[in-house]
Formats: sequence, C-alpha cells, structure tokens
Amino acid sequence: MIPSAGLPLTALKGVGPALAKTLERLSLHTFGDLLLHLPYRYEDRSRCMALNLLEPGHTALVEGEILRADIVIGRKRALRCVIADGTGTLSIRFFHFNRGQESVWRPGRWVRAFGEARHGPQGLEMIHPDCRAHDTRPPPPPPGLTPVYPTTRGLGQLRIRSLAAAVAGLEWPAPSGSPLPDLIRLHRPEPADSEETLRQARERLALDELTAYHLVMRHRQSLRAHQTTRALPRGPQLGRALLNSLGFELTGAQRRVVREILEDLTQPTPMLRLLQGDVGSGKTVVAAFAAVRAAEHGAQTAVLAPTEILAEQHHASLSRWLDPLGISVVLLTGSLPGGRQKEVAREIAEGRALVAVGTHALVQSRVEFANLALCIVDEQHRFGVHQRMALREKGLQPHQLIMTATPIPRTLTMAMYADMSVSVIDELPRGRQPITTRAVPTTKREEVMRLLRQVLAARAQAYWVCPLIEEGEIPGLAAATTVAAELAAELPEFSTGLLHGRLSTAEKAEVMSRFKSGEIDLLVATTVVEVGVDVPNATLMVIENPERLGLAQLHQLRGRVGRGSRPSTCLLFYAPPLGAVAQARLATIRETQDGFLIAERDLALRGPGEVLGTRQTGEVGFRVADLGEHAHLLPTALARADELLAAGDPAIQVLLSAWAPAERGASNV
Ligand code: ADP
Ligand code: MG
Repeated sequence: MIPSAGLPLTALKGVGPALAKTLERLSLHTFGDLLLHLPYRYEDRSRCMALNLLEPGHTALVEGEILRADIVIGRKRALRCVIADGTGTLSIRFFHFNRGQESVWRPGRWVRAFGEARHGPQGLEMIHPDCRAHDTRPPPPPPGLTPVYPTTRGLGQLRIRSLAAAVAGLEWPAPSGSPLPDLIRLHRPEPADSEETLRQARERLALDELTAYHLVMRHRQSLRAHQTTRALPRGPQLGRALLNSLGFELTGAQRRVVREILEDLTQPTPMLRLLQGDVGSGKTVVAAFAAVRAAEHGAQTAVLAPTEILAEQHHASLSRWLDPLGISVVLLTGSLPGGRQKEVAREIAEGRALVAVGTHALVQSRVEFANLALCIVDEQHRFGVHQRMALREKGLQPHQLIMTATPIPRTLTMAMYADMSVSVIDELPRGRQPITTRAVPTTKREEVMRLLRQVLAARAQAYWVCPLIEEGEIPGLAAATTVAAELAAELPEFSTGLLHGRLSTAEKAEVMSRFKSGEIDLLVATTVVEVGVDVPNATLMVIENPERLGLAQLHQLRGRVGRGSRPSTCLLFYAPPLGAVAQARLATIRETQDGFLIAERDLALRGPGEVLGTRQTGEVGFRVADLGEHAHLLPTALARADELLAAGDPAIQVLLSAWAPAERGASNV
C-alpha cells in the first residue's frame, strides 16, 4: 500500500525470529499488516479516578501512595499493597511476584495502576492491574485514549501496543486520499480524539475498503465477460437417468436452480454462481446434476469441501448417484496413504476420473486436471473470498458453483456478491419434520436425560455437542471426552461414540460410519459435526454451552436433526446466568428455523461489544470493515465504486493500491 508497507516486521527493533513467529499467528508479517491490525477498543488512561469514586466493576486508572505492603498467606501466597490518594484507599494484590518486586512496593512510594476494581476481603481491590511504582507522585498521565489490540498467546498487550505505535509513528508518505492518516490515528489517537471520532475514522476506512472491494468485483465481472471457457450444451440425457434413479422427487426449488445452473453451463463464458440453500435443502444433488452435465462431455468436475468428513460424505453420495451412470468419482484427501494419493492424482491427470472430491487443499495441491470444466465449492458457512482467489491464481478458468448454507441476508448478497449470479433453494424436501427447540439450564439436567433415554429407547439416535475436547481447556465449558465417559456410564444399555477434531481422519470416518449405520446410538462430539453430516435417524440434538456459539453455528448444528420422517428436538443446554446478547441469540434460535431470518438477526446482534474473539472480518477477507458494524455502508460503497468507474477517477488507483494491491489491474475496467 505504501513503499515500505511490505517491509517484514523483523526490520523493527526488538522483533527477532521468535516474536516474528508469534506475530505470524495473527497473520502479521509486514509493516502494512500491522498498520491494518486495528485496536478493537480503547481505554481511557488519561485521567486518574479518585479512589472514593471507584466502584466494583469499574475499570479505571488510579494512583496513590503505598501505605502498607505485606505478604499475605491465604489460599495462595499474595503480595498485597494498600494505597491511598487522600480520598480513599484501595488494595492491590499480586499472586505472581518475586523478591525484586517485593522491594519495589515499599511504603512511601507511589503506584499508578489500571485495572478492574472489585470487592475484596478488605474493601475494594484490584488483582494484577497494569501498574508501575514511582518514587514520588508521578506526573499527570499522557493525554489520549489507549488502544487495546486483538492479541494471541505469548504476545502481551503492552508489546503489541508498542509495536503498533512504533510502525504508526514512522514517517509515512501519504498521497491524498490515502487511508494512512486515519490508520495512524487509530493506533495513536490524538489527545482530542473520543471513541466517537475514532469510530468515524474507522467507518471512513471501512467505506474505502468496501469501495475497493466493489471495484475489484466489477473488474472481475468484466474480465469474466471477456473470457471463454468450455461450453457444456445439453448432452445425451444422462441427467434424466439420474433423475429417475434418485428415489425421490426434486423439490420445485431444486428443479429451478438446476435449470439455472445448466443454462449457465451451455454458455462459453465461465459461470460464477452462488447457490444458497439452508441446511438440509438438498444442495448436493443439485451439484450432481451439474457434474453429470460436464461428464457428458468427458469433462472433469472438482468438488471442494471444507472438511475431510464432508469430502468423504460428498464422495459417498456422488458415487452412489454417478457410478451407475458410468461416471467415475474419486476422493483425494491428505490423509489417504501416499501411494493411493499418487494413484488418484494420476487418474485425475489422465482424465479417467471425471469427478474428483477433496478438501480445499485439492486446489492448493499440485494436482493437474486433464480437462477441468467445472469447480464446485461447498463453503457451508464460510464466505471464503480467499478460496475463490486461489483458484484464479492457479490460472484455471472453469465454470464455478459456490454452495453456501449461510443464508445471506438479501441486502448483503447484492453487495457482497456483486460479481456473481445467485440461485436460492428456498424450500425443504417434503416430509421434513419441524424441530422443536428448547432452552434448558444446566440445573435441569434430569429433564435432558429423560428425553435422551426416551429417544434412544425408540431406536432413534442423538447428538450431544460440547465446545471443548478435553476438560480444563477453558474453565466452565463442557468437554466432549468427559461428557462421553459420563454418559456412557449412565446409559450402559446404549452405545456411545466420541467424535472430535483431534482424532485422525480414519478414526473420525470410522466413528461417523458407525453412527450412520446405527451401531452408535449417542454421538458425543465437538462442533466438528456442524458441517454437513447427514444421519436422518438422529432426532435429538443437545448443545452444551450454546451461549458460546454464534447464531449461524447454532443453526447449522440444529440442522443435523430434522432430516428424517420423525419429529426432532434441539435442546440448548445452557449454563446460567446468560448475558443479554446470549439471551437474544438463544431466543432467535428458539423462535425460528428460517435461516434467512436468523442471518438478519445475526447481523444485527453482532454488535461491536461481541467483536472480541469472534471477529468475522477474517472469514470474509476484509481487513477493517466488519459486516456486523458496517453493513449499512455497502450500498453507498457500491454506488461510489460505480461513480468512480464511470468518471474514470484517479482515486480508483489510490483505493486499489491501498486495499487490493494484487489487483492493480482492476483500474482498467
Ligand atoms: P445440504 O443442502 O444441507 O447440503 P444435502 O444435500 O446433504 O443437504 O441433503 C440432505 C438430505 O436430503 C440428503 O440425504 C439428500 O439425499 C436428501 N434429499 C435431497 N433432496 C431431496 C428431495 N428432493 N427429497 C427428499 N430428500 C432429498
Ligand atoms: Mg451440504
């Protein structure tokens, strides 16, 4: 974006290989990356709060003279100092300290601390605040808000803050219209800046970024319009044979989207179509019709799934449907034995395999296709702008069908996928039973167990989903391993299985196939079952700690049941008390099964307060814009991009080089 934005962070003083590795975990490689790594909130450390005004729950900057400092032996050894500022007193407690520190906290010295006040054994206290000791009363704190950054294990807030301040403090050349002044200001707020002025600066950046995004989309659209690829006209009616062998009727919506897709394929311009359909709406079979069309011409289809379990499942469904038509479907995943991988790669390279199913790694790998004509990407709930870019970089120009189970609010679809055509499956296959959804607090476990026993006794199956694999990773959250052991002991008459991300692919596949065959009655799992798993005989879904999951994820999980002919139940087994946002989320899930409505609510609920840890921008690929917060800017950004293009405005160049340096060519739309 700027001449030296590409400098590696190791060029900064104090950044060695170890720190660079830690920074990489946050995808921070260059100066430019760090400039775009924005604070997610600010703290006001510019004024000290009088101790008599401090209340429990306040996070504030305070200072005072040390009256006493003692080692106290309670349940844990602690160093406690009591400070006074003339208006009141406060205890500060440290559990981790060494000899050196004991002498730092001497009566008569001063302390300035920033932290959260709470009730302690002797009045108000702060535990391990950010603090420093001074010989005398310290000078007034520097003005301006203090940024707080997203960070990662092994990288303290002070460290990342000083790195960001160092980079933002360099003398950056900033051509007019450049985002730099705003970026720098977000890292180093001016004394007069308030949270509101900073929010506005961020919004200006978000608008620029979204505008750049639309410029790129327009560019791609025009590129594609000029590209040619292999046209796949109507063939010898293998599609009809598939239709007749399915064993079910397509829904009206499926028939409509199949027609839309097949019509695109007859054109010599590459298709780029988004297929939206809620969980269980039957997208896979739609994909099968597209693959059959390609196969009729002896052309190949790649099917990319987000996980190996899902790739295996797609492979199973597609082979079941296509093998009888003489179309060979292969599976290529990283966990196949090396010999088998080579063999499959050869079948693909020689064009003997007409349909190749794999994870996204399939595109990244060095597999060569003999004549790839169609690429089907099952994104499930990821918007994956990145994977689409990866395909482009490979220089492949096949027809592309992107399937997503995230019903995207219409307002967003228009804006986000301006470069794509969109098909929507808005109808579930007939005979689907509604799912009853209830929230049950963990204090009423017997209620859950009663229903579970009833379901299993009726020869149906159940899922029990936990957020963690092992106990203790995060206190207070249910761990699949522990829960599975408990349930197995409690329900000796049924068989319990365990599925989580640390099992090998072969182990996962085995557990899944035993669950599918009904050999396992109760599957205790982490959210790995979220994606695409299809077992129609499962009628109960218990979700532990649903308060920790996003709406889209809860909706996906619930979609694992309600796939057969029996009514299903989803129990949100939450740990009380619930925060306001969690309450609103669970209410939404209870009230509706309409994925589109859920998506709209998700957008509205994902306020800035929830941003910590669940930042959605990464998924979409934006650096600054956050769709939860900035969705309202999308129409403006779209209009602005079109205006700039119509006028051939030089600002286009500035926007693109700042936000999409790889797409400079996009200015020649
Ligand atoms: P998703 O859209 O979530 O990927 P799937 O493609 O996995 O859904 O389909 C869910 C289940 O519904 C599968 O078992 C599939 O075979 C079945 N199915 C798809 N279409 C129909 C239909 N029209 N009638 C009955 N069952 C269908
Ligand atoms: Mg699916």
